[in-house]
Amino acid sequence: MSTRLDSGSSRRRFLISTSMAATVGLLAPRDLFAQDDGLVQTARKTAATANIIVQKLRGNVSVLMGAGGNIAVLPGRDGKLLIDAGFASARPKIADALASISSDPIKHLINTHWHFDHTDGNEWLHSAGAVILAHANTRKHLSTTTRVAGWNFTFPPSLPGAIPAEVFEDERTVQLNGTTIALKHYAPAHTDSDISVHFTEADIFHVADTFLHGYYPFIDYPTGGSIDGMIRATDANLAKVTDNTIVIPGHGAIGDKSQLTFYRDLLAGTREKVAALKKQGKSLDEIVAAKPTAATDAKWGNGFRNPKDFIGDVFQGV
Ligand SMILES: [Zn+2]
Repeated sequence: MSTRLDSGSSRRRFLISTSMAATVGLLAPRDLFAQDDGLVQTARKTAATANIIVQKLRGNVSVLMGAGGNIAVLPGRDGKLLIDAGFASARPKIADALASISSDPIKHLINTHWHFDHTDGNEWLHSAGAVILAHANTRKHLSTTTRVAGWNFTFPPSLPGAIPAEVFEDERTVQLNGTTIALKHYAPAHTDSDISVHFTEADIFHVADTFLHGYYPFIDYPTGGSIDGMIRATDANLAKVTDNTIVIPGHGAIGDKSQLTFYRDLLAGTREKVAALKKQGKSLDEIVAAKPTAATDAKWGNGFRNPKDFIGDVFQGV
């Protein structure tokens, strides 16, 4: 069953979204390995029983949280538009949550990038009527066998219906349900397929996995990610937002400009410290022991990625 939370219950929302993220919304390699060496299968299985929260934002845009990456939903006369597909195993709960928003049919799906916690539901959403749009590299990765070393998993090519029928390279503007939706490719950041989605009139900005709210980032180097790309992406996000902008992170609670600023400083500051220590000849273990993320670890170090995971990601890119 889906749960609707109003904007006044932000504390409760934060707690719920944090606990969900810790269990299912995010991939936690260490935790999942501890349960089962099939990380990806475990994430899918866990998502099947997760609660989905529907949070209304602004301008008729809602977000579903709890079944993989955050899913933005814009209903209306042109049919529902979804930004990201979540896990396929959460289909019944996602379908219920979508029905609680409106009776409009599902017609459009945009993937923010190729990762399975954002595209696993592509096939069923396509079968339900969605045309899928994404960056060209999302189609490329979904069309071929792709290994993610950080998850110790090799993804086979997706089923034909799950592969985006439409792709773009740099940017694309879509008009649906009386709303302008501006899509923009990031230079390689978290992967090489990341895009931002701006609901222009409502000023709601979905920044994909260039921002995980409350968690250290995961940087997928094999499919084009890098720490410098992540810093450039957060700079691009900051150039785009105002104090009025609602920010939808790839995972975690809804945020705003101040949290994007914090994230940018965290990434850039950690990069600087790790690069300096590496230049002195320190090993990764020595750098982790020096705790370059100490100021943030108490708050951010217990979730998706621990400090060592994050520092390892930075280490290989500087
Ligand atoms: Zn991702």
